[in-house]
This record gives sequence, C-alpha cells and structure tokens, in this order.
Amino acid sequence: MNTQNFFFKKVCLLLTLLIGLGILPKFGSAKKKPKKPTKVVLLIGDGMGLAQISSVMVGYTGQNAFERFEVIGLSKTSSADNYVTDSGAGATVFSIGKKTYNGAIGVDSAGKEHRNLFELVKDKGWGTGVVVTSSITHATPAAFYAHVASRKSEDEIAEFLVRKSCDIAIGGGKKFFTDRKDKRNLFSELNELGYKIAADTNLLFIDSKKLIYTLADNGMKKMQEGRGDYLKKATQMAQSNLNKYYENYFLMVEGSQIDWGGHENDFTYMQQELLDFNSVLNQVLDEAKKDGNTLVIVTADHETGGLSMLENKSNTDTFTVNYASKGHSGIMVPVFAYGPGAEDFSGIYENTAIFDKLKKLMIKDGATKYRN
Ligand code: MG
Ligand code: ZN
Repeated sequence: MNTQNFFFKKVCLLLTLLIGLGILPKFGSAKKKPKKPTKVVLLIGDGMGLAQISSVMVGYTGQNAFERFEVIGLSKTSSADNYVTDSGAGATVFSIGKKTYNGAIGVDSAGKEHRNLFELVKDKGWGTGVVVTSSITHATPAAFYAHVASRKSEDEIAEFLVRKSCDIAIGGGKKFFTDRKDKRNLFSELNELGYKIAADTNLLFIDSKKLIYTLADNGMKKMQEGRGDYLKKATQMAQSNLNKYYENYFLMVEGSQIDWGGHENDFTYMQQELLDFNSVLNQVLDEAKKDGNTLVIVTADHETGGLSMLENKSNTDTFTVNYASKGHSGIMVPVFAYGPGAEDFSGIYENTAIFDKLKKLMIKDGATKYRN
C-alpha cells in the first residue's frame, strides 16, 4: 500500500471517530439555525384517510406525490363534542388551534371568535389564499377567514371576505355573493375594497394582488363531469400572484370532493378526485423544490366512508372496496411534510398541533407549547 494513502486513510478515520463521538462538530452544521419557511402551502384532502390514499395509489403508474415527502406524521382528528369530527370543526382546529363543536367555523366551543392563522400572518404582511373545488364559502375554506356559529350560514360566511384577511379565493360559490337574501351585491363591495372579481366557467389567468374568482354557483363540477386541470391551474395562479405581490404567503388548497365521493360511497368519484389532488401535489412539490423556502403540508380533516380494502377472492392481485358508513370516521389521518420546518410534523399528535406548528414556523416569536 502507498504510505501517503495509508496515512490519509488514518486521518480520515480519526476525524470520523471524533465527529461521531461529538468531539468535533460536523462541517457546516455548527450552530446553524433551522430555516424557517417564507411560503407555506397547506393542502387538505377532505375525507382523505390512509385507505383512500392506499387504494388509489395501489397499481397507479403515474408519479405518486405522497411518496415524495420527507416527513410523515399522524393527526388525531376528534372534535370537542364528538370523537368523529365534521369539516367545520376539522378545519377550524387548523385555523384557530382549538377543538370546537361540529359545524363551527372559526369559533371555539363557547362560540367565541379567535384570531386565525390568516389574520395572524396578515399582521406580519403575509399574503393569504384559498383554492378549492367546493364553494369558497364551504366549511373548509370558510374556517380560514370567517367566524360564524354554523357552517350552513354561507351568506354570512361570504361577508367575512370584506375583512380582507384572505387575499385570493378561487372556487365555486357565486350565489353567496350575488344572489343573497339581504340583496347585497358582495362582489361590488369587494371590488370597491380593491379586489379584482371574476366569475366565469373557465379559469383564465388574472394578475392581481387581491382576487375573488368564482367558477360555479355553488360547488365546482366533479372530475368525472369534466373539471379538467382546474385545481392545478388555480393553484398555480394563486401561487404566482402571491409570489409576485407578497414576500411571504400562506395558501390553503383543498381537494374538497374527495369527501363527497366518500359520502356517496362512490369509489370512482373519490378516486378521480384524489388523482386530481395527487397531480396538484406534484406541481406544488416541483415548485417548492425549485424555490427552497416553501413548506408543503398535506393532511386531512378526517376520513370519510370508513373505507377499507378487503380480500378479493376471485382476483388476489387486487382488493374489494368496502365502505362501513356514509359519514365520517374517527381514525387518525396522515400528515405529509416537505421543506423548511417539515421535521416538526413527524410523530403522533392532536389536530390542534398542526395550528401550533404552523404558527411557530410562520410567526417569529409565536412559538406556542405543543399540546401533544
Ligand atoms: Mg371541505
Ligand atoms: Zn364530509
């Protein structure tokens, strides 16, 4: 053996040992502060439990976006008054950090309004947005900008947009702005407050710092009815505007109808919605990878349908789809995280911790005690 090479190997071995024993710091990692995200995209698959993801992704030949995540956790989904949550309480807990009664939007069990994440980050100048396939006033998006006693009050929920805590909202729900019991035209009111307003059946790119874009009277079409790549395009448009006009932003994207397919025990409906959601995840992850400062979180408010994959005796390469319920179930749901701060999301925790973790990462000095 060449003696110089032998000596070099000895030195390397010694350094490795010292680093391993913690005597020497790892190069480049000495006292480096963990990076905080400047952009956060929270993607909610409404009603998306592990069974939904598993059953759709088995045998799927496209890119499985869920497999691209570095960190995975589990969230316990119960609400304050029921082991099985609804989507109002299920999204409110993410937005205000408190378990509440089923049906609540942005208020706690006593009906008290609490500042939500959009309002908290807005104080720091962040941009905010919701992109959904339901109406923009439906329970999940509503919990991010409104505070009402009941998710059913969609007319009232729409009025909260005038508070301007949500900069961009894209989805269905036109009638809650223009065809209201009180005869107000909220579109003209919002326009006067600086929002660009668009109502159409096709999504066209609009460049704006503030934008309300509705593409249906109430909920959007199903994938099976030809919704196409709306969710991808709308998400891209929201990110592009938020990126252009704000230094930091927090965007919530919802695959709203994964839940609706579950309620109908319609596997193909659910599958098409989940595959659409999967393609949005791939797009958001590609962007986040390029950007390097974006935290991407994917989770659900609850599982829908009590879906299970049972043995298929006539074809053992596949499975039999089984639904136990037309409603929601109380199992834990997965949380996938990618980007700066992702490591905070590993482990098993209550759904309240999602708020705590996001708040800590988005608002400097905003660290709250985790309620694991
Ligand atoms: Mg929803
Ligand atoms: Zn539901």
